[in-house]
Amino acid sequence: MKAPNKIAHIGIAVKSLEQALPFYTKHLGLTLVGTEEVESELVKVAFLQIGESRIELLEPLSDQSPIAKFIEKRGEGIHHIAFDVDDVGERLIHLKEQGVPLIHEQPKEGAHHAQIGFLHPKAAGGVLYELCQYPQVDHEG
Ligand code: ZN
Repeated sequence: MKAPNKIAHIGIAVKSLEQALPFYTKHLGLTLVGTEEVESELVKVAFLQIGESRIELLEPLSDQSPIAKFIEKRGEGIHHIAFDVDDVGERLIHLKEQGVPLIHEQPKEGAHHAQIGFLHPKAAGGVLYELCQYPQVDHEG
């Protein structure tokens, strides 16, 4: 199976997008591509473009959000790294066959209508990796 294409984004857990954003936009000069609520994960996300990749800031929408639990346990900070792939469904099957522990065995819809799947952090020494397949025509910039 071919290697992932690139780092799609790095996900960073924050308590408040409003408080976190000025560092990225004002101090670093990155462009805010957009914000979106992802109901399934109970998060509000903001994407900042950096070259071919993005930084994804994740703010919990409720105490039940996995991001709220993450911040409670470990504080704000890097939450996950996402790989851009062409074939998230096949890849999850392939990984499962190889005995790699997964959080999602089937793709689900993430921000920007991407198909996503998370590997279990115990697969990679505590690092949470996401596979991310964007729709073929991706105009959201
Ligand atoms: Zn992500």
